[in-house]
Amino acid sequence: MNLDEYKGVWVFLEHQDGKIVPVSLELLGAGRKLADKRGVPLAGILIGEGVRQLAATAFHYGADTVYLYDDPVFRDYRTESYMRAVIACVEKHKPETILYGATSTGKDLASAVATDLETGLTADTTMLDVDEATGLLEASRPAFGGNIMATILCKKHRPQMATVRPKVMKALPIDTSRKGELIEESIPLREEDIRTKVLKIVRETQTKIRLDEADIIVAGGKGLGSKEGFQLIHRLAEAIGGTVGASRDAVEAGWIDHAHQVGQTGVTVTPKLYVAIGISGAIQHLVGMQNSGLIIAINKDPQAPIFQSCHYGIAGDAFEIVPMLIDAFQVT
Ligand code: FAD
Repeated sequence: MNLDEYKGVWVFLEHQDGKIVPVSLELLGAGRKLADKRGVPLAGILIGEGVRQLAATAFHYGADTVYLYDDPVFRDYRTESYMRAVIACVEKHKPETILYGATSTGKDLASAVATDLETGLTADTTMLDVDEATGLLEASRPAFGGNIMATILCKKHRPQMATVRPKVMKALPIDTSRKGELIEESIPLREEDIRTKVLKIVRETQTKIRLDEADIIVAGGKGLGSKEGFQLIHRLAEAIGGTVGASRDAVEAGWIDHAHQVGQTGVTVTPKLYVAIGISGAIQHLVGMQNSGLIIAINKDPQAPIFQSCHYGIAGDAFEIVPMLIDAFQVT
């Protein structure tokens, strides 16, 4: 493989309900920085049916080029069809790097593409950089139970690929005057060539909690003692207009659903305010919330590790302090 033939940074542009999903816009921001450091263009790869107009959004958020595969065969996401489009595009235009959001779709597609192209993939990346000496992508992610950050390089294959967690990169401010080049592509793929059929899309009826989009999170841990004790977290969250988060131990105790879990095996969050109550501050929890704007911890053990990672700490019993906060903030 002649590695020098591979140039440019790409972002897989995932979309839903007629919009590019936030993580793809964040990746255009991160990709722009990588592309500028390398002195190469930034491209988006856009696959779907009737999605042409989304290319303009990609330009507004930093892309120089968009490769468009717009065909009824791409109406619903299917691994087989999307991976064939990405692989065809890679073989034709040879990018050095491709970034995908670490969403269900991004993870599925990236691993299928990596397998077929026999190239490397760093999953669940939380930091991206370029090694100035070699020009290699440095994709870093928590490893060994979150105790270290591992930086992974793909030295011998191209493209270098990574899935990146939502909310860890920053989108550029929108610039509606930015324009780019739209390159239309196609592959000879017919519906009957695809083994998977989408029979029905069932939308989740329950209101889904979007922890990763919350501005205020009140999170509770094992220190709340019981499901009843955990109700304090719900009450404070309601009083200050926050969303409820939890440590893994609180989830495993059955006090709250896994969708609320913050951390390495839960959601990564960056709210403006994160209140951690009865949470010790294990590294696996911290990696999911340490980039929050303001962190306030309440813990009865003054030596709890969470106090090393918060902006303000209250050493005391949650059952005394939290009711006072609820009283102070509750709108009557
Ligand atoms: P504890 O560690 O038991 O802490 C409870 C805290 O409450 C203590 O600090 C105590 O002083 C305090 N407390 C007790 N009573 C009170 C009171 N009345 N008032 C105030 N404070 C009180 N954890 C996550 O959270 N998210 C993850 O995604 C995650 N992923 C993991 C992945 C792996 C591979 C592994 C090995 C572990 C993972 N963990 C995760 C678990 C993690 O290591 C910790 O075990 C967990 O975060 C601890 O939860 P906790 O802080 O609620 O409980």
